[in-house]
Amino acid sequence: MTIPRYLTAALWLLTAVAAFSPTTTTTRHPLHSVQSSSSFKLASAAANEDVCTIQILMSDTGGGHRASANALRDAFDVLHPGKIQCDIVDIFTDYGPFWPFTDYPAIYKIMAEYSFLWDWFYHLGASPFGIAVNEFLMELFCFDSFQECLARPSGSTNHRADMVISVHPLCQDVPLKILSSLDTNGQTRSPDARTTPFVTVVTDLGGAHPTWFNKGVNKCFVPTDALYQCARDRNVQPDQLVQYGLPIRRGFWDQASGKEQKTPVQLRQELGLDVELPTVLMVGGGDGMGGIVDIAAEVGDKLGSGSSTPAYQMVVVCGSNEKAKQALSSKQFGDGVKVNVQGFVNNMDEWMQASDAIVTKAGPGTIAEASICGLPCMLFSYLPGQEEGNVPFVENSGFGKFSGDPTVIAETVSSWLASPEKMNSLKEAALQAARPSATLDIAKDLADMVFAQKEKLRAKEPVKVGRA
Ligand code: UDP
Repeated sequence: MTIPRYLTAALWLLTAVAAFSPTTTTTRHPLHSVQSSSSFKLASAAANEDVCTIQILMSDTGGGHRASANALRDAFDVLHPGKIQCDIVDIFTDYGPFWPFTDYPAIYKIMAEYSFLWDWFYHLGASPFGIAVNEFLMELFCFDSFQECLARPSGSTNHRADMVISVHPLCQDVPLKILSSLDTNGQTRSPDARTTPFVTVVTDLGGAHPTWFNKGVNKCFVPTDALYQCARDRNVQPDQLVQYGLPIRRGFWDQASGKEQKTPVQLRQELGLDVELPTVLMVGGGDGMGGIVDIAAEVGDKLGSGSSTPAYQMVVVCGSNEKAKQALSSKQFGDGVKVNVQGFVNNMDEWMQASDAIVTKAGPGTIAEASICGLPCMLFSYLPGQEEGNVPFVENSGFGKFSGDPTVIAETVSSWLASPEKMNSLKEAALQAARPSATLDIAKDLADMVFAQKEKLRAKEPVKVGRA
């Protein structure tokens, strides 16, 4: 869920260039009026003032932020059908004032492929100076256009959202100031003046960029002890912090909401897999990153070299990385392994539940999902800074290992698969670390908050936003 998708320091350089370009006038991005990335229905003549509306701010930097936003929307639908409408928006792509703000997802992909760049930008952006410069530049360039986003009619109502949630590390500081301004008719940007509730739901796991944590929020949901501490380090108070786990897509918590699950054999049949062979799933996040082509090719070769008939089955999910899918689909593997190459799949829960172990980039969403499925995790890469803390999270929890060496990866995974005892202990540890009810727990709290806010608005009481 990855990411911040941390582009903070890049902004210093890139916005400096943009600031002196002719496009830095008040040009409105064409997508502002299209609202293509949101899930809400445009306000109609028959505006429905009874529903509660929540705007969820994110950016498609990696697959994790949107997956978390969708998960919360689905949880609201399960808990309170028809009562809460979500307006999910990639605020940078749709409301960024100019490049590079409008191109964060593409820039993120480039930076994630060159991890030294990421490392440098991430740590520079995490320094007190970096945070201050980023906040200054974001307020200077993005305040007006982002304000259009936060002020837009939400769901089927004709007014802005009753509550705002951020599931992205770059959506705290400026949106909080915008809400203060909107709540006071432009009189002040001061955090104390805000009356619209604002909540952060952190979508990282073992480590997180400091900009996730803003002491001005009403609540901040963190998934782990490590991130609780990161939030405290940024002066977010204990009464603002709630710790349940990571919000993840519906297929992984349907069991917690009472839905019947299919068996691994049923799933393998439906997915066109061999029902008998030990199955290794390989994933590189939503964008198929982390050098998935080389790792999958070499791990496949190792698994395939030990036998003249298939002893393993390997499924490679390349996400949105079409080039990786093409390269791996045309590769010949040894007779000892059956290889199934997929592009972006929308049923990751089924692929995971059909597998015995996963080899993955250390993405927080994938790790949280794998732990719910009791899958041993072999981590093959991580984004410096942002995903680094996910490695000790997995290793210390006892459900996996890290190695960037394909030989070690193949040997480790095949040794796990050869030992039922080892597989059991890894599975137990994964399930122990899993938080399958987290999405519903977070959604319950958020729903209570927006219902309370709606009551206050209905009663037309002056609303005071505190930390309660
Ligand atoms: N994912 C998916 N289909 C794919 C590949 C990935 O739905 O083909 C999902 C995966 O299940 C997870 C998210 O994308 O929910 C990836 O999040 P993660 O935090 O692991 O990595 P990111 O893509 O954000 O770097």
